[in-house]
Amino acid sequence: MALQMTDGMKETLHYRLVILGSGPAGLTAAIYVSRAQLKPLLIEGAEPGGQLMITTTVENFPGFPEGINGPKLMMNMREQAENFGTVFLRDQVEAVDLSKRPFLLRLGEETVSADALIIATGASANWLGLASEKKLRGYGVSACATCDGFFFKNQEVVVVGGGDSALEDAVYLTRFAAKVTVIHRRDQLRASRYLQEKSFKSDKIQFIWDSVVMEILGTEEEGVKAVKIQNRKTGEISEYPANGVFIAIGHTPNTQIFKGQLDMDGKGYILTKCKTTETSVPGVFAAGDVQDSVYRQAISAAGTGCMAALDAERFLAKME
Ligand code: NAP
Repeated sequence: MALQMTDGMKETLHYRLVILGSGPAGLTAAIYVSRAQLKPLLIEGAEPGGQLMITTTVENFPGFPEGINGPKLMMNMREQAENFGTVFLRDQVEAVDLSKRPFLLRLGEETVSADALIIATGASANWLGLASEKKLRGYGVSACATCDGFFFKNQEVVVVGGGDSALEDAVYLTRFAAKVTVIHRRDQLRASRYLQEKSFKSDKIQFIWDSVVMEILGTEEEGVKAVKIQNRKTGEISEYPANGVFIAIGHTPNTQIFKGQLDMDGKGYILTKCKTTETSVPGVFAAGDVQDSVYRQAISAAGTGCMAALDAERFLAKME
């Protein structure tokens, strides 16, 4: 969405560098650039801390042999960035104009300008879009198996989707649940062969093919009881008992406000130039899940956050 400057809206703040997003990518970029004395502004966005704030133990972030709690990891990163002089703003950017220099960002009534921008706005989980799914979110419906799997000890759960996320969730959920059923809308999985084999081998995992979830049955008081599903080939509608429903149908990058201003792929992920974090607009850099539909790991997000910081520093040095 291109920013329209309207009457009464005045430019209030200028920063040499603004970082959008406060997940591992944004915070790592902030640590690097603030340590280089650039005093960046970091605008935290709609979900401060990003996806790790809804994760329990992170076991694969190097440096923590016992694992580390997701929110704790993010608090540590934030503190580190703050110690070096990052200015934090708990707000959300509504519109941007990347066609002018400095770049303009609108937050409510205020406008921030920046000579360089690091976009680390991440990606959000997709939902089926059912009213019952929305109503029961947090009451048995989740998009995060690692966060909520623990609550389904010895119960029966359903995972919706047929990609790597769905099967990874299904395998993870076997640690807790008595039975895990993957409901997929086709009869072929998109997931890697490795995860397929692992799932097929598990005694606890079973599949319902060619089927879509039409409704999730349950109440906020008693949780989920069943899912109403329809077989896409036969049209048959049935109810399948479940205590929990995990939606794993992919993610959407948070790039709506940059549409038409930056080059993106068909799914809306920001395209970066080979081996850099440079976008199609000089001075605008992208890091983390917003430009990565493949790896989507905290450590790879942090790595690209570091790259974006170094790219932005070089850009600003050249500007001088
Ligand atoms: P994905 O590969 O896009 O798969 C999404 C799945 O959800 C597909 O099977 C799709 O069905 C299904 N789906 C989409 N919309 C649906 C809807 N409205 N109703 C029902 N089903 C729907 O997404 P992902 O699994 O999140 O993976 C994203 C990327 O991250 C991939 O590149 C993946 O390899 C990577 N990843 C890797 C790992 C790992 O290596 N350990 C783990 C997680 C993710 P169709 O197949 O019919 O389209």
